[in-house]
Amino acid sequence: MFIDSHSHTKHFSGDARMNISDLISGALSASLKAVVITEHYDDDYPHKIDTPMTCDIESYYESFQQWLTQSPPSLELRFGIEMGYQSGLVNRYNNIVQNYPFDSVIMSSHLIYGIDPYLFRDCYDLGPKELYSKYISDLVEIASGNCNFDILGHYDYISRYAPYKDCKMYYDICPDEFDTLFRAMINSEKSLEINTRSISKLRSQGHDNPMPDDRILLRYKELGGTIISLGSDAHSPDGLGQYFNETRKFLKQLGFDILTSYKNRKPQMTVL
Ligand SMILES: [Zn+2]
Ligand SMILES: [Zn+2]
Repeated sequence: MFIDSHSHTKHFSGDARMNISDLISGALSASLKAVVITEHYDDDYPHKIDTPMTCDIESYYESFQQWLTQSPPSLELRFGIEMGYQSGLVNRYNNIVQNYPFDSVIMSSHLIYGIDPYLFRDCYDLGPKELYSKYISDLVEIASGNCNFDILGHYDYISRYAPYKDCKMYYDICPDEFDTLFRAMINSEKSLEINTRSISKLRSQGHDNPMPDDRILLRYKELGGTIISLGSDAHSPDGLGQYFNETRKFLKQLGFDILTSYKNRKPQMTVL
């Protein structure tokens, strides 16, 4: 019985394809114990696109109260958000986080050099070393700054849409940046998310080992990192809890024994 710390609905996330009933039935089919709904909030998104990148948090909160009544007792829904980091937004984001009773807050980076790599592909011309190092360095800024959040979202996001023969994010690509990131996260007690949508992406590309790079997790552990959250980043019902069993096995093999989720912004530990 897992807790999925990362999911989106089409009610408030422009790119999601499931409504709340779909999410509830998907979560029940995946035998999840709890799902944290983490609608997108990317303020000052730099590009003009059709789908909104932020939501009206007041209406999201009101809807969430309704959703609680739709969910069966066997499934716990939690109120979360995924915020898209930019350095100028920290105070604005901290105000939002203080003003709503979130259970869990994910801070993510969806931009590189201020643009969205999903829409503007030129950044990939830099090659994996330069690009991935830059992305991980940007995460260091998030983890060591004054942002009020719980989970650092998908550290491997930049690799998800990469056109390289092997897109996977490896520790050895930028070991110094990873070390600095992990030290900052451990110091600020932030959780490292294993985003299983990235696993799904690698699997769909036919990668022979779609699980995260062992060395990334082993180094996190070696430096003292223990806080890990599982998030499917589901945008459709079949994504909920996807690859959680495989990930549990993978983490256990590496010597991790607990998973962390957040409720009322407090860490909750589950034995793996
Ligand atoms: Zn994201
Ligand atoms: Zn997401």
